Amino acid sequence: MTAALIDGLALAKQLREQAAQRAQVCLAKGRPAGLTVVLVGSNPASQVYVRNKVKACGEAGIRSQLIEKPETLTESELLAIIESLNHDPQVDGILVQLPLPKHIDAHRVIEAIAADKDVDGFHISNAGALMTGRPLFQPCTPYGVIKMLESIDAPIWGSHAVICGASNIVGKPMAMMLLARGATVTVCNSKTRNLEEHTRRADILVAAVGRANMISADMVKPGAIVIDVGINRLPDGKLAGDVDFPAVSQVASAITPVPGGVGPMTIAMLLVNTLESAERRLHITT
Ligand code: NAP
Repeated sequence: MTAALIDGLALAKQLREQAAQRAQVCLAKGRPAGLTVVLVGSNPASQVYVRNKVKACGEAGIRSQLIEKPETLTESELLAIIESLNHDPQVDGILVQLPLPKHIDAHRVIEAIAADKDVDGFHISNAGALMTGRPLFQPCTPYGVIKMLESIDAPIWGSHAVICGASNIVGKPMAMMLLARGATVTVCNSKTRNLEEHTRRADILVAAVGRANMISADMVKPGAIVIDVGINRLPDGKLAGDVDFPAVSQVASAITPVPGGVGPMTIAMLLVNTLESAERRLHITT
């Protein structure tokens, strides 16, 4: 079997075009949709992610503001910035780029963001809302995965989904989203014994661990849909996912590549979340 490619770049492009149309509706209602990104320190990967987010906003007609602060920023100074953004009527979404410097408590910072501007969907209220089936903002990466599965009409209802990785930003919300759509979900973590016994039972396999090529072809059920969230930098500088793409694509029925898979979808879903927030504030019904 040669798997069909789920093209995240093409799907993200479509979503970004739709986002641009929605941004025009916001503008016509009185003001642009607005996202503020806060970056503390000079982590090179974070700088790239932040620049990509700001650029994507600009291309979609969303007003973006980047607040860059040095590594020496104190937690109380960061909390004061968030407090002022919470009250700024031009700001529909607030995103604090993670990781934060060690002297700042990331949990406290995320909880300080107004839940109705938390376009990352990491606030405890948004995590709880997702868990109880009434989501406000859904974390962008797993939300993008759901859009990818929908784009190929994946039969989620009644399927067995296995997620490798249980982080708050990917694995756990992914589990909630799949469960809400009728999947039977297994979530694996670093303590899981005999991982391959779980992965081999998956109709839908999501790899979100952060270990290059750890999912080999013999860990995948023939015909499974395989979603690779992992982004790993190899010693030669190239990017690799968590899935051994050449081998697994001979076994799976559909697969996402890295790069060009889940990554572009994450940014597209950030635009979608920001527009949902702006539309709520501008009383635009969609
Ligand atoms: P994370 O916070 O480091 O979490 C990794 C998870 O994997 C943890 O739950 C960990 O288990 C689990 N794990 C570690 N070794 C394992 C093993 N051998 N078998 C099964 N599970 C194992 O990472 P993350 O933030 O979720 O990110 C995961 C990957 O996705 C990274 O490569 C990251 O770069 C990528 N990512 C991509 C995007 C995108 O836009 N494409 C967005 C976010 C993240 P424990 O809970 O036991 O520690």
